[in-house]
Amino acid sequence: MSMSTATIPYGHQSISDDDVAAVVAVLRSDFLTQGPVGPRFEAAIAQACGAAHGVAVNSATAALHVACLALDVGPGSLVWTSPNTFLASANCARYCGAGIDFVDIDPHSHNLCPQALRTKLEAARAAGRPLPDVVIPVHFAGQPCEMAAIHALGQEFGFRIIEDASHAIGARFGDSRIGDCRYSDIVVFSFHPVKIITTAEGGMALTQDAKLARRMGRLRSHGMTRDPAEMVAPTHGAWYYEQIELGFNYRMTELQAALGLSQLQRLEPWIERRHRLADTYDRELAALPLQLPQRRADRFSALHLYVVLVDDGAPLDRAALFARMREAGVGVNVHYIPVHLQPDYRRLGFAAGDFPRAEAYYQRAISLPMYAALTDPDQQRVINLLRAALT
Ligand SMILES: *Cc1c(COP(=O)(O)O)cnc(C)c1O
Repeated sequence: MSMSTATIPYGHQSISDDDVAAVVAVLRSDFLTQGPVGPRFEAAIAQACGAAHGVAVNSATAALHVACLALDVGPGSLVWTSPNTFLASANCARYCGAGIDFVDIDPHSHNLCPQALRTKLEAARAAGRPLPDVVIPVHFAGQPCEMAAIHALGQEFGFRIIEDASHAIGARFGDSRIGDCRYSDIVVFSFHPVKIITTAEGGMALTQDAKLARRMGRLRSHGMTRDPAEMVAPTHGAWYYEQIELGFNYRMTELQAALGLSQLQRLEPWIERRHRLADTYDRELAALPLQLPQRRADRFSALHLYVVLVDDGAPLDRAALFARMREAGVGVNVHYIPVHLQPDYRRLGFAAGDFPRAEAYYQRAISLPMYAALTDPDQQRVINLLRAALT
């Protein structure tokens, strides 16, 4: 994608000559898939985040799917997540034949609200309704959820936790790095080009649990094993493999892994750059009729997104501001349409009014350009357009 047009996108990858060289070197090597680079990428991400195991797959969607299956999510199970997320955080439960429900968001962080979670858990218990088997908190915009509180509720009510950290590689909650699984069973990252680092398409599931890692690794490749210890029958010979459960082809290629490994080197400076851009937005937009993102001293956001909420009574409402910015060549976006309002979720019985805070948030939210390669002059253009539109 060239940057030669005047359009400023809301997110964009950064590809260096080193990235290109790393991918080309793999292309000329013996292995395009299932070679040595994939395991190196897994180990590098796991080490950077403080996890024992990383399982690389071809998307975060696939990672969420194998994570659910590894935690035995299936027909009769129940998964809860945030309505303010991308479709994949909820769809993964449905791939497994499980039930899905949502927990409304906190109006300041826009993350799954731990008080709302407690209220919903207590109400379900009191009414004799099923409790969730798995809860999937989403670190929206890169800002970590209240993981200590959610983990404590998991202990009290007996659910497991998968963190959808698609926005949050490089973030920290207190002194815990997102990915170290201190408060969860599995953490999932996305490497889609709009995310913090990219493999074009790709994702990873991190865990401290060797058995979960083994199972996710197997599910990534048809549920096959070549390990005699896992086989039902005695091995027939060195060629022998067994499918011991139903899996998929969710493998990441060596080209993708090489790109990710090269990108990982720049993770820290990129997040620093995102913080400097956010500082400038915070300062320059403070006087406008906007609710700016919450920045907190007790956690470090990866700042995947910079979302502002347009105040009621502002000169332009969100829809009009969106149109004005797009006309001026600024690729603003909206994250997210509440998942429960999608036609395919309404078909399951969800309706407008079910999660009022996520719905109210959605009416006002607009994502401004935020990516490491965004230049100061381009950011100033965005700020000037916002000032002109809102004063
Ligand atoms: C991008 C994203 C996903 C899906 O990631 P893919 O790698 O595109 O499958 C899942 N959850 C959230 C919150 C995301 O932003």
